[in-house]
Amino acid sequence: MKPKLKEIGVKSTPVLIVGAGMAGLACAVTLHRANIPFLLFDRDNEVGGRVRTDEVDGYRLDRGFQVLLTAYPETQRFLDYEKLDLQACYPGSKVWFGNRFHRVADPFRHPIDGIKSLLTPIGSLGDKLRVGMMRMGLLSSKSIPDNCTTRVALNKMGFSDSMTDRFWKPFMRGVFLENELSTTIRKFEETFRFFSKGETVLPKNGIGEIPRQLAGQLPRNNILLETEISKVDMNSVESSDGRTWKGRAVVLATEDYYANQLLGLGTQVDDWNSVDCLYYSLPVDDLPSDEPILYLDGTGDGPINNLTFISTLCDCSPLGQALVSVSVIGQKEMNLDEIADKAKQQLIHWFGKKAKKWEYVKGYRIRKAVPTCQYLPIPKPVLTRVYRCGDYFGLPSIDSAMNSGRLTAEHIIQDQKS
Ligand SMILES: Cc1cc2nc3c(=O)[nH]c(=O)nc-3n(C[C@H](O)[C@H](O)[C@H](O)COP(=O)(O)OP(=O)(O)OC[C@H]3O[C@@H](n4cnc5c(N)ncnc54)[C@H](O)[C@@H]3O)c2cc1C
Repeated sequence: MKPKLKEIGVKSTPVLIVGAGMAGLACAVTLHRANIPFLLFDRDNEVGGRVRTDEVDGYRLDRGFQVLLTAYPETQRFLDYEKLDLQACYPGSKVWFGNRFHRVADPFRHPIDGIKSLLTPIGSLGDKLRVGMMRMGLLSSKSIPDNCTTRVALNKMGFSDSMTDRFWKPFMRGVFLENELSTTIRKFEETFRFFSKGETVLPKNGIGEIPRQLAGQLPRNNILLETEISKVDMNSVESSDGRTWKGRAVVLATEDYYANQLLGLGTQVDDWNSVDCLYYSLPVDDLPSDEPILYLDGTGDGPINNLTFISTLCDCSPLGQALVSVSVIGQKEMNLDEIADKAKQQLIHWFGKKAKKWEYVKGYRIRKAVPTCQYLPIPKPVLTRVYRCGDYFGLPSIDSAMNSGRLTAEHIIQDQKS
């Protein structure tokens, strides 16, 4: 069965984009701005891919704790920050160590808190000066080989084990979603640069507003949701229910593994970092403070790695209630209910008896959160007129997914001209 393109408002042969995550959306917006027709397919019932917010019993729950770094070049290019009503996190964190929280602040934005941080047991004075030097570009990892792990590289740069274990590990675990700081130093460096250059923010109505704003820049009829593509070739795609669409080019903006499947590249390694994200509700009066700050576990005892009282940032809970978003990494042997119980014990240990009454709202086990692999960012066609893009061409982050989507669209636009 061939759906008529004219019926859905597409006047000439479109580019067929499979996957409406951040990469597919950025690709579609770029093509649309260049007046190149497109069709955007996703098997899910909403755009966004891994960037989604659910409404559950009056709460807005992001599918995993994610933040936008305002310094991301692609989000600056595509998004209207003001309309997203971005809410900024405190530039620093509270680290649990020795039975209490210690504030670690960015001295460039909060000089007084920054000076106070010098005295905490989270790293030595030398460690803190090194962080400052990194911020100013006076200490860099450039001479360290690209494939060196962050753990080894931080050691080479002179950071003490206590700084790495009490701060870098929980902080970067929350970003790369792996336990050992085995992510390469280049990814660490790039991430650190983005954190230093701008603010760490969330849209007031949750992370899902980001893909929604992108989709809002596109003609609604050109987005075909709940449409799983099962076959592709250089000028057509076929859905699993047997519909086909003709196009001038095909873009695979799916996860790496599914792109390989669609290209018939056989069984590839499907290696991902995972995270469990748990939400608990609490009375507003129980909030330890109304400061939107990241809490980190500097002991490594877990199971919680990091948490944020997310309702201090976003409009995500009913009146009178607050919401805490808890991230647990590397506890695959326990099921979500077991983890929720253990995490609750940790909340009681950290915030006192009042936490006994905090109610578990929902948990997400996100097995495929971020890919461990990374390709070179060259969006050349893998076959004639079949392109691929996605976060596995970069950090992985919202920014690099959008970057690869945009570059792919620009490549197609260039190919059309030549
Ligand atoms: C818990 C978590 C925390 C994160 N934290 C951050 C953070 O703080 N900051 C940050 O910048 N990034 C963060 N990220 C990473 C960021 O969300 C991703 O890098 C980015 O969203 C990936 O976008 P993508 O378009 O490449 O892939 P995806 O979002 O995976 O999009 C792929 C799309 O393809 C669709 N698809 C697949 N196969 C088919 C098919 N056969 N037919 C039709 N559709 C198909 C899927 O449904 C999906 O919508 C986090 C991710 C997670 C999960």
